[in-house]
This record gives sequence, structure tokens and C-alpha cells, in this order.
Amino acid sequence: MNGCWEINGIVEMMNPIASILDRYPANVIAGALATELGRRGHDLKDSLWSAKILLEQPDAIKQIHYDYFKAGADCAITASYQATIEGFAKRGLTKEEAIALIQRSVKIAIEARDEFWNDTSNRVRRSKPFVAASVGPYGAFLADGSEYRGNYGLTQKELMDFHRPRMKALIEAGAEMLACETIPCLIEAQAIAKLLKEFPAITAWVSFSGRDEKHISEGQVFADCVMQFENNAQISAIGINCTSPKYISSLIHAAKKTTNKPILVYPNSGETYDALRNDWDGHPVHESFGEQARQWFKAGARLVGGCCRTKPEDISVIASWARSGMSF
Ligand SMILES: [Zn+2]
Repeated sequence: MNGCWEINGIVEMMNPIASILDRYPANVIAGALATELGRRGHDLKDSLWSAKILLEQPDAIKQIHYDYFKAGADCAITASYQATIEGFAKRGLTKEEAIALIQRSVKIAIEARDEFWNDTSNRVRRSKPFVAASVGPYGAFLADGSEYRGNYGLTQKELMDFHRPRMKALIEAGAEMLACETIPCLIEAQAIAKLLKEFPAITAWVSFSGRDEKHISEGQVFADCVMQFENNAQISAIGINCTSPKYISSLIHAAKKTTNKPILVYPNSGETYDALRNDWDGHPVHESFGEQARQWFKAGARLVGGCCRTKPEDISVIASWARSGMSF
């Protein structure tokens, strides 16, 4: 899965999700990166969020990737969610420096994965994990909460122009797939799907954020959005993330009716984000997140993990039920 190849002039797509799901019933996604950085004492009160640590303390991010692999994750999601050329330019970085920093997010995740996998004791009952490069929504760059609302007022072409340079940088740095995540609106998913055609060897997951048990954040019906991408072979999984766990089972049932693609879910802990205070309110779900995730697998999700406020311990619980009773 590390690299694409060409047979008779046809570019073969890398599809690390299919490689794992061919052998195992579930694919375990990593948990939150920024939350874990905060828990370990790093200051994230910044519009760049975890990208700030990428700039200042990349080894701290690498260690968290490693710890998620150790906890049982089949993939890392890179610290590029909020890393954009425009965002770094506001901090005085040149375009070249910004691209180098975006690429660093991929390189440290690959380093963490290789170190993990080079220790053969880590290979027991496991597939080699892969590195999914995070492509956050346009609203994450704005850092004003619109990542959970959509309604940017941009055209599809403008959204493609925004996403193109980061996507190119991530792929050139060695990303094994793209995690297009927390997408609040259909037009942005359509822009990303169209842009993927410019990078024919890469696959992506497309993951929306949801506002309730039926709709994505901007208000479109989730099942209708899912159906739009059924014939796009580069989208190797589709689903929902950074959404309250209480909506997830309904959303899975809705998606199952309109797609044959693997469904992925990695909700947040159930707390809600206050963009004005740049912090989280409320309490996490009472039931163990990792145990609750088992219900999502039973409902039909094939890729399961956690988004904001989830921890390596949550992923460890998911990995323990996901791998128990499997035949190898
Ligand atoms: Zn999240």
C-alpha cells in the first residue's frame, strides 16, 4: 500500500482501507490529536490549533501518533487539519515554509508508523497501519466556528482552489490516503471529489459533520450527500465525524440505504464546542466511548474511531473488541 504503480498505462490507486478490510472486519481509526496535546500540557489556544505544535514541537505530535498505533489504531490522521498555506502566511511564513510545514505533518506520522512497525512485537494480529493526511474544511482555516456551519458563500471552484495546494503538498510528502474530514456542506465535498481527479493515484475518505440524526451541519440530508459519491472510485469510505455520539447509529442506518462503500464514523465525545470561548462545554457520554463504538460497528460501520475529546484509552477499548474473536 505504500506507493502507487502503473500497469499497462493505467494508474493503480492506493487503497489502504480496502487492504485492511479485505482481511479484517473493522478498521480502527485514531482518536483526537489536539485533545491529547492539551492533556499533555501543550497550549492550543491559538487559531492554528494543533498546527501551532507542528511548528514548535513536532516530536510531541509524533509521540501521540505512536501512542495511538500502540493503542490499536490502524491509521494515523496527520496534524494538517488546520494547517494551510493561507493560515501560516498570516503568521509570516512564506509559501515554501508553509508547504514544508504541511509536509512535516505527513513525515512525522510516517516516521511514527515506521518506528512502530519496525518493532516486530507490534505486528501481532495487526495490519501495517497507514497514514491518512487530514484535509480539514475551509471553515477550519477561518477559525470562527464556521467549520460546523458551512454557508461560506464560496463557489465550488473557489473551494477547489483553496484545497488544491495543501492536497498536493500532502500527497507529495507521502500521504497514503487523504482524510477529508469534518466537512459541513455538500458543495465542499463536491469540490474535493472533483479535485481528487487531479491526483488519480490517491484515495480519500470523505467525512461530514452532522447537526442531528439526519442532517449534515449546513442542513443537507446526510443520506443524500452520501449517495452523491457512490460512483467516485477514489472515495474509498464515507461517513461522519466530530458529531455527537447520540446521532451516530441513526446516521449509519441512513447511509447504509444509499451506499455500498465502507461507512466510517469517528464522533466526538459528546461535548459541544464553543467557538467564542475556543473551548468545550458539557460532559462526555456516560457509557464508555469505546464500548458505545461497538454499537456503531454492529449498525454497519466498518471504520470506527474517535474525534475531539477522545483519547488513546478509548481507541484501545475499540481495538480490543474489534480484534477479539477475529479469525486470522
Ligand atoms: Zn473533532
